Amino acid sequence: MDIFEEIIKGNIPSSKIYEDEICVAILDINPFEKGHVLLIPKCNESLIENIDSSILSHLAVISAVISKKLRTALNADDTNILINNGPVAGQEIKHTHIHIIPRFKERGGLMTIQKQKYNGDEQVEFRNKLLISKDDLKR
Ligand code: AMP
Repeated sequence: MDIFEEIIKGNIPSSKIYEDEICVAILDINPFEKGHVLLIPKCNESLIENIDSSILSHLAVISAVISKKLRTALNADDTNILINNGPVAGQEIKHTHIHIIPRFKERGGLMTIQKQKYNGDEQVEFRNKLLISKDDLKR
């Protein structure tokens, strides 16, 4: 079982901001920017081309909801939304996931910045700020 399956099953703790019958969204433990979210489908496929179209459509919609939340809750100027689709493309965990990363004018571009660590209760604080409500799902 991969680590995201363990998280989906609740065997490993995570900072979850959203869950429905198709997917779960958690904070990346080692974020490019604090508030970096991973949107993970519950189906166990490593490549997006093996995922059902209706699930992919749903993931696109929830990615947009999360991106908007990063702007409203964290004042992100923009977001990166990306998938490392396979090991040669940098995929470390063989379970499809979408990275949704808040970006800020004062920081450098994605490829030039160092990953960070959350301090103390910061991860809980970010999780609470980013919890997706029913209102957030209205588009
Ligand atoms: P990728 O390189 O696209 O497979 O990204 C995997 C991501 O998962 C990395 O950005 C890791 O920081 C993140 N990650 C690994 N383990 C955990 C975990 N237990 N909880 C949250 N994020 C994780």
